[in-house]
Amino acid sequence: VKVLLTGGSGFIAAHIVDILLQHGFDTVVTVRSEEKGDQILKAHPNTKQKLSYVIVKDVAQDGAFDEAVKSDPPFDYVLHTASPFHFNVQDPVKDFLDPAIKGTTGILKAIKAFAPTVKRVVITSSFAAIVNPKKAPAVYDEKVWNPVTWEEAMDHSQVYRASKKAAWDFVEKEKPNFDLATINPPLVFGPVVHYLNTLEAINTSNQRFRSLVQGEMKEKLAPTGNFLWVDVRDVALAHVKAIEVSEAGGERFFVTAGYFSNKKIADAARESHPDLEAKLPPTDATDDFPANIYGFDNSKSQKVLGLEYRPLKQTVKDTIDSLLVIGV
Ligand code: NDP
Repeated sequence: VKVLLTGGSGFIAAHIVDILLQHGFDTVVTVRSEEKGDQILKAHPNTKQKLSYVIVKDVAQDGAFDEAVKSDPPFDYVLHTASPFHFNVQDPVKDFLDPAIKGTTGILKAIKAFAPTVKRVVITSSFAAIVNPKKAPAVYDEKVWNPVTWEEAMDHSQVYRASKKAAWDFVEKEKPNFDLATINPPLVFGPVVHYLNTLEAINTSNQRFRSLVQGEMKEKLAPTGNFLWVDVRDVALAHVKAIEVSEAGGERFFVTAGYFSNKKIADAARESHPDLEAKLPPTDATDDFPANIYGFDNSKSQKVLGLEYRPLKQTVKDTIDSLLVIGV
């Protein structure tokens, strides 16, 4: 069984590669450069015949995936994770909506046109496609949709959220041969793979761990922001389960382990890495976790995909260990 995984060099995708190989899938990843492709192959020395890469330089270009989706033997599944994820947006259309929306519709068009054997496409979506910034429901689950409009998406703070719905619209209109599943994580934490990372270029969602370990929150904890999280290995497994479990077709999955705050991360870090004490905020630093917070329901992901979420303490330990390996 053969799988195309886009954005193979990404934080989440690096873990998906490991799970795909463990589960026996023939895996082809897309990367933007030979250098990254070679790093990925080198890190998996005993699986070469099962793992290869193709170059897709920019997901936003017209026809970017037309060649990548063709393969012999042909692909059975596609996992699409490649998307810009940063908050460094100058021009919301060019820097974000274009690559995010065109990248997603582009790959779906290419699969429809050139890869008729593909049965399912799994897309890395986000809690951002669920969250309602105007009026939080009592409980967030898969039935909730972010109501943001295209016009509102021009506002920098909203642009990321707006970019995540295009795939469902495509499938509804085009009725392709494949079905769709989306994985919708909130903030994703967890170990970075050492072969792709430097401390400077650490992925967006793990940056708070770097700040913490480097002593930047010693005087003052940074505001937590969004209080839901999930471990990257659980997110990666969700993607693979979404192709293995037939009932996952046509579904979105809200994958979250629950609540956190920067204070709770700091406390867990003190416990797992007492030697970092001098860099960490004081034990009595104020926890900004709100008294009243929206609920969440992750039961669908547990029932359908069989996920069992890692607890925060373990993720904090493993994330910091991985940062120490790449040289904090
Ligand atoms: P990373 O930034 O680590 O990975 C992004 C991947 O996409 C990289 O492989 C990157 O390639 C590739 N990419 C980015 N822009 C382009 C482009 N224009 N053309 C081709 N490839 C591109 O992010 P994550 O792994 O954290 O995120 C992956 C997905 O998960 C994204 O869709 C993101 O929106 C979603 N997500 C992430 C969350 C998180 O907290 N991390 C939370 C919710 C959703 P390169 O390595 O060469 O830059």
